Amino acid sequence: MSALEDLLVEEMQDLLSAEAQLVKALPKMAKAANDPKLKLAFQKHLDETKGHVDRLKQAFELLGAKPKAKPCKGMEGLVAEGQEVIEEGAEKDEAIADLTLVAAAQKVEHYEISAYGTLRAVAEQLGNRKVARLLQQTLAEEEKTDNLLTKLSPPLLNLANQEPAGEEEAPRAFRRAAGSR
Ligand code: FE
Repeated sequence: MSALEDLLVEEMQDLLSAEAQLVKALPKMAKAANDPKLKLAFQKHLDETKGHVDRLKQAFELLGAKPKAKPCKGMEGLVAEGQEVIEEGAEKDEAIADLTLVAAAQKVEHYEISAYGTLRAVAEQLGNRKVARLLQQTLAEEEKTDNLLTKLSPPLLNLANQEPAGEEEAPRAFRRAAGSR
């Protein structure tokens, strides 16, 4: 195996660990999400993530390498942060909690997008079109998920920006609403 092939396989081992960590983390994210659309996005990406594991295994086979996972510390950190967000979110306003979940999930997607982008380029350089295609398919799904999360954010931002209807706040909010008509 060439040094470049070694690099590809080693980084794929890292990603295999990252994806496996996400298969465990995404159901917790889905459970914690308050917004039904966000919940659905996490559930859908869980299904896709299981497919990412399968694609990596196919790529290992194409390279004649064992599908061995090497603990991905980057993802361990991101998942630990996600876990914190879930725990802290239980005490927060629903929209704020969802926004912090979106932020944590987008950090994960960006991490994966950079990893898959690099590896696709390596596979292309090696002239391994089949492996490059597998990596590209997963990359496209990570990008789609990132875009979906971006689209889900504005309504949450609007909700989070509304004044809480506390006892003292209500009359003021009411006056302002009445005055604006
Ligand atoms: Fe993934």
